Amino acid sequence: MSGTFVGMPTFPTAAKAALDNAQQRKNLHHATHTIRDKRARVVGEVDDWEELRVAGAAIKDEVLTHLDDYLVQLEESLTRAGATVHWARDADEANRIVTGLVKAKGTDEVVKVKSMATQEIGLNEALEEAGIHAWETDLAELIVQLGHDKPSHILVPAIHRNRAEIKEIFEREMGKVGQPAPAGLTSEPRALAEAARVHLREKFLRAKVAISGANFAVAETGTLVVVESEGNGRMCLTLPETLISVVGIEKVLPAAADLEVFLQLLPRSSTGERMNPYTSTWTGITPGDGPQEVHVVLLDNGRTDALADTVGRQALRCIRCSACLNVCPVYERVGGHAYGSVYPGPIGAVLNPLIRGTESAVDKSLPYASSLCGACFDACPVRIDIPELLVHLRTRVVDEKRGGLPSGEELAMKGAAWMFSDAKRWERVQRGAELGGRVLKKKETLGRIPGVAAWSDARDAPTPPTETFRSWWKKEHEKGEHA
Ligand code: SF4
Repeated sequence: MSGTFVGMPTFPTAAKAALDNAQQRKNLHHATHTIRDKRARVVGEVDDWEELRVAGAAIKDEVLTHLDDYLVQLEESLTRAGATVHWARDADEANRIVTGLVKAKGTDEVVKVKSMATQEIGLNEALEEAGIHAWETDLAELIVQLGHDKPSHILVPAIHRNRAEIKEIFEREMGKVGQPAPAGLTSEPRALAEAARVHLREKFLRAKVAISGANFAVAETGTLVVVESEGNGRMCLTLPETLISVVGIEKVLPAAADLEVFLQLLPRSSTGERMNPYTSTWTGITPGDGPQEVHVVLLDNGRTDALADTVGRQALRCIRCSACLNVCPVYERVGGHAYGSVYPGPIGAVLNPLIRGTESAVDKSLPYASSLCGACFDACPVRIDIPELLVHLRTRVVDEKRGGLPSGEELAMKGAAWMFSDAKRWERVQRGAELGGRVLKKKETLGRIPGVAAWSDARDAPTPPTETFRSWWKKEHEKGEHA
């Protein structure tokens, strides 16, 4: 299964490296705080926000409980509207289907709407291997692609870059793959957006095939929905002759009326806007208007595994708004790359292990990438209890490890349990600690403790006191009795 950035270290290792990048921390702090403040303002305007959250969660739960029925209904509706439906069990199958469809059109390039599902399956890389260039048309995705970089945020993939860095990327890279950046480009947002607009325009006008994802897929009508802010999605969805949409099977909504809830929840939670600038809907083929060949690839890629986990399945409610990332103190400091996936932040810490499994070292480490502060749950528009899922997945990781040689942590915990389970024993240990405290009294902290080095390296464990509270109490009490 695709989805892990190749050669990715575990979260703690990657996070440590990211924390050393002061510029990135500054960029992230500025960006996440700006978006979270905007979100708080527009969410505060809605009197029935909590009711909307409850409704969003209930609609998604209804879909997840009857996913088999809704998917069959979606397939029937799409087929009736003239689209061709393909089913993909995993990333390889989805990539094979899409590559085959593009090749059949006799073209060696496609334009793409920003799509998490296609990033998840590594579609661009698969197309490149087949000699097909995939041009990202979302501004932030374009920055990531031109910079030979990885996305670090669900909504703002280039959040780790500032304007000066973006200008430098445009000047260096645009000319290598098309219209170069204009001479005298500045780092003003308007100038950067204009450079991207001119660069992309020729690609939009030339492309025969476009690839998209979908935010929602309405089972009742076979309508796919993409929401975006720049208009690049609208260009991709209307200009090319052929449109291929890769859609995760959890994106289904029962009826068009359900959009009423999600089109309020999503823009306020993601960009902090009352409504999103572009909402594109398409239902199969309309003769003489837009793409005349429409393919929809319904993607599983681990989603049914997540669905089988009765606690974990709530993660499939996710509408990829990224509100949980913007409020997460861990994400704010380490950024998205440390999570080793296109799904970073709190939702990535649970979704990746749920859909990819907990076999790899990266996926085992992700449920620990959180302080369990609960800010993600409060921000989530579909009420995914991410802290509950983190604890659930930590339990799974620990349970999977049981039975082999005990780790240093396990031995330390067993030792602690033995020590605390008997008052006399605990007293003897304290007397030993007092002795240790007297020997080490010149040191403020214990430094690295063999056996639990991973724990002690991240904390300042103080040297034991030269006198414990019990000893002091006993002494004072005895003094009082003799007075
Ligand atoms: S988990 Fe909730 S807050 Fe996070 S991206 Fe998904 S819907 Fe948004």
